Amino acid sequence: MNMNAPAPGRMETEFVLPVGYTDEEGKSHRTVVLRKMTGKEEAILADRRNQRNGGKLVTELLHSCLVRLGDMPKNGPGPIENMYSADRNFMLLKLRTITFGSELPARYTCPSCNESVQVTENLDELPVRSVGEDESPEDIVVALEDGYLDKDGQIHKALRMRLPTGADEAAVAPQIRQNVSLGKNALLARCLKSLGDIPRHRIEAIGSKIMAELTLTDRRLIDKALNQAAPGVDLVREVDCPNCGVMFKSNLDMTHFLSLE
Ligand SMILES: [Zn+2]
Repeated sequence: MNMNAPAPGRMETEFVLPVGYTDEEGKSHRTVVLRKMTGKEEAILADRRNQRNGGKLVTELLHSCLVRLGDMPKNGPGPIENMYSADRNFMLLKLRTITFGSELPARYTCPSCNESVQVTENLDELPVRSVGEDESPEDIVVALEDGYLDKDGQIHKALRMRLPTGADEAAVAPQIRQNVSLGKNALLARCLKSLGDIPRHRIEAIGSKIMAELTLTDRRLIDKALNQAAPGVDLVREVDCPNCGVMFKSNLDMTHFLSLE
């Protein structure tokens, strides 16, 4: 906690980020003060230019509602853009909670009987994994089962990736608009640090192609590692189907997340 910072004002709330932002001097900023969304943010959400790029929209929205990040002077959206997606998603959830309350209507489809299940989620109760004080977010390491077969017939299985940031989100937004799956490949490729002993320049050149060629078995292992090991809000929900009694897992339904009703 920063003892010199002024107390949050009316309409403002202070939170501790799951990861935190590290500035150019290497100093970590973990506290953030956000204010409620206003008509100004309604205009940002409605702006067609923003709707073309989800990453930029989130940056603009968060920057607009950001009162203070640690003890940094507020000058431009740079820090918000370069923050980890884990912190950005955390702030989005808090923005929704302080503006519209923590209850979120959600709908899931049971994979067993196809029944639509309506649930009221409580955003304040979603589990948050935080990085310890003076700890930095570690790389995500995954041991692939099938691996990537290169053109010399060698199989590469040890995958290491970093956590995605707002800049990654903005960079792959055009691909996501075209095709969600291709967009995901592009995001994973940007965050891929190494795979077996494939040279760095090859990873930079054909990262998306490598991701596209991984088996769905391996893709699932990567998703699982990202969901389980990564810091931030756990968006995986366990839903009980009242129709057939099956319990299934699904990602949080964000359809009504920022709707202004
Ligand atoms: Zn069911």
